[in-house]
Amino acid sequence: MDVDDHAEELASDLGVDKEEVAEGLRNLVEYSVPMEEAKQSLRRKYGGDSGGGSSTPTSADLADVSPDSGNVTVTATLLTVGKRSIRYNGDDHVIFEGELADETGKLSYTAWEDFGLSAGDVVQIGNAGVREYEGYPELNFGESSTVTTVDQTLDVPYDVGGEASLAELDSGDRGVALDVRVVEVERKTIDGRDGETEILSGVLGDESARLPFTAWEPTPALEEEGASVHIENAYVREFRGVPEVNISEFSVVAPREAAVEVGGPTRMTVREAVSGGGAYDVELVGNVIEVRDGSGLIQRCPECGRVIQKGQCRTHGQVDGEDDLRVKAILDDGTGTTTVVLDRETTEDVYGGTLEDALDAAREAMDQEVVADDIRESVVGKEYEVRGHLSVDEYGANLEAVRFRESAGDPAERAHALLTEVSA
Ligand SMILES: [Zn+2]
Repeated sequence: MDVDDHAEELASDLGVDKEEVAEGLRNLVEYSVPMEEAKQSLRRKYGGDSGGGSSTPTSADLADVSPDSGNVTVTATLLTVGKRSIRYNGDDHVIFEGELADETGKLSYTAWEDFGLSAGDVVQIGNAGVREYEGYPELNFGESSTVTTVDQTLDVPYDVGGEASLAELDSGDRGVALDVRVVEVERKTIDGRDGETEILSGVLGDESARLPFTAWEPTPALEEEGASVHIENAYVREFRGVPEVNISEFSVVAPREAAVEVGGPTRMTVREAVSGGGAYDVELVGNVIEVRDGSGLIQRCPECGRVIQKGQCRTHGQVDGEDDLRVKAILDDGTGTTTVVLDRETTEDVYGGTLEDALDAAREAMDQEVVADDIRESVVGKEYEVRGHLSVDEYGANLEAVRFRESAGDPAERAHALLTEVSA
């Protein structure tokens, strides 16, 4: 075979212009690059097989697949198949994604074409690419790949179908199936990628946990608070530090006959909640050791709602601030600390007065700090049961409280009550 023959074969493999390939080959061969290596180099350049020293993809165990594997051929059981529409190079494109497994391990995948994938199928995927996604290898297959169903059973140590409880969900999960109850729901208008659009936003619950959800198309079955539903093909992404269930146009939502019981908040230590990177609907018990600056009577920017200092918003400059009340308290349970943020309503409870009362007190003292001082005096040193949503960012842990109440009774009494409960 001469250079032209090699060029022709390579060009048809890669789907690029033959003359261009021939020129590239000639250049390399002129510099004494061996023909096979020259072809390999052009494959890499045109995004074909990116290595491995052979033009045919190697068969691989999933445990051995890494972003350096080049293109591979794998045989695996499809654990989950999620369908989603993404905008790619300005066009809407439907992709399929989920997890697949063989006897050695499991991987996430994205299929850029509709191969008729179905959870539970055993398939051989030929010429799949491997890319790194959030630190892990991920299989990608599309036009230049082949997918064939294999009449074979693989002994994979994972469940097929994506059935999960809310507590098991992690950001990045796809093709998830859930039995849940709609705990809260509201219709919202957002600025979507195609202009204004209506979505549903709320909270789902099951026995294991509660999590926020977004439905990108209003679905009647989800719009009724208290309704129990079965959801197929949802995906999970991180929103404000906690997993959020996403329900797309491809998800299937059906009313469920049997009611789903919703459990209470999960009791955790601060260390557990923080080490998980955030937790939705948790209950922490600890002592308030400090009420931070920026608590009590504050002013917010009417444009963005952020707290302002001396009438200055960092984004909107000089503004006419709106009065509000909040508390930022530090809670310590012996395993760690988190900032607990109380909204106006809860702050009014703790303060024992309304926003109007706080404004009166500040006017009388000619110092708005008197409100924070009052709150400090009443909460610091006491033990509280705090329920809410904990998120972690670069500045530390924050718990947005939905309930904040002083622990009942004295500690000895409570220990006794707990022992009785355990032995009952
Ligand atoms: Zn502002």
